[in-house]
Amino acid sequence: MSPASSPTPSLASFRRIVIKVGSSLLVDSAAGELKRAWLASLVDDIANLHDGKRDVLVVSSGAIALARATLKLPRGALKLEEAQAAAAVGQIALARSWSETLSAHRITAGQILLTLTDTEERRRYLNARETIDKLLEWRAVPVINENDTVATSEIRYGDNDRLAARVATMVSADLLVLLSDIDGLYDKPPAPGNDAKLIPVVPRITAEIESMAGASGSELSRGGMVTKIEAGKIATTAGVHMVIASGRVMNPLKAIADGGPCTWFLTPANPVTSRKKWIAGSLEPRGALHIDAGAVQALRTGKSLLPAGVKKIEGDFGRGDAVILRGPDGAEVGRGLVAYDVADAEKIVGRSSADVLLILGFTGRTEIVHRDDLVMGGGL
Ligand code: GLU
Repeated sequence: MSPASSPTPSLASFRRIVIKVGSSLLVDSAAGELKRAWLASLVDDIANLHDGKRDVLVVSSGAIALARATLKLPRGALKLEEAQAAAAVGQIALARSWSETLSAHRITAGQILLTLTDTEERRRYLNARETIDKLLEWRAVPVINENDTVATSEIRYGDNDRLAARVATMVSADLLVLLSDIDGLYDKPPAPGNDAKLIPVVPRITAEIESMAGASGSELSRGGMVTKIEAGKIATTAGVHMVIASGRVMNPLKAIADGGPCTWFLTPANPVTSRKKWIAGSLEPRGALHIDAGAVQALRTGKSLLPAGVKKIEGDFGRGDAVILRGPDGAEVGRGLVAYDVADAEKIVGRSSADVLLILGFTGRTEIVHRDDLVMGGGL
């Protein structure tokens, strides 16, 4: 049975798994130290998957949190240069902890530090992918983090949820596991005494699902769930299943396998090409095309997007930039590379293909987004 056709896929059915670990799980901020016993229990689970011939990659946060403890930095937001310097201190300790814990199982770790540019520029993206592929071929476990010491605020991920999703799509993983201090997506903010329900399976990320993430409790958890849903969009659009589960338990992967609480985000079964994965994971779409219901239907059957199906344009994009496609309810239905810059696109919106030549005075592509440059979201 393919993972997608089962309501809650089993961990053993995946071949290449990216596991994202949040800072709060790894670092005990009160004691100011690494939670060694917990890390050892997670690595036991990782070793089981590794022994079972699975490829495992780790995206680990915690560099800044560890450095806060070592350097005795005050609580609260750090300035950019402080965060960068703290990451330089914490990353050494973080990588060493992973390496030592994995080596207790005779597993080799390899550290990879990525910046946003490394994943957004196609040439660098392919480069990073080759390095990671080689590590996996050697049966090493890549331990990945954002290169916080050089990433500046304008050009950084800033959260490892989206970074992990991007990595998962880059290496054609089939599963992304997000371990954090929440055990999944709830239909409303969970609070003591209320009846908020955990959603076990999200077959497709709809506007309703997005609004649940937006409506979560504290400032912290709002940011947390929003970036997790963003990660879910990147992953599921590119053919990667995602599961959010709590890492507040020992052996958190075993807990998922044993049916513990979690939320699965499913991806459509049809594999997409590597180019399309790259489009799907593009983090900085330059604009949005709002399209009508007929166009949504047509795109879902594999057609290209014609100017006639576009109702409205947002953003400031050039020819070849990534844009989000939004359906009549405003929800994202896919992403693609647009064939016209914003000025020309504005002129041909809603017009028939025959009019395009007359309006623009030159023959461009009939399609505003060609099917080869288009990736539709989940639920196909
Ligand atoms: N890269 C940051 C760190 O290692 C963490 C980012 C995040 O928490 O998502 O401290």
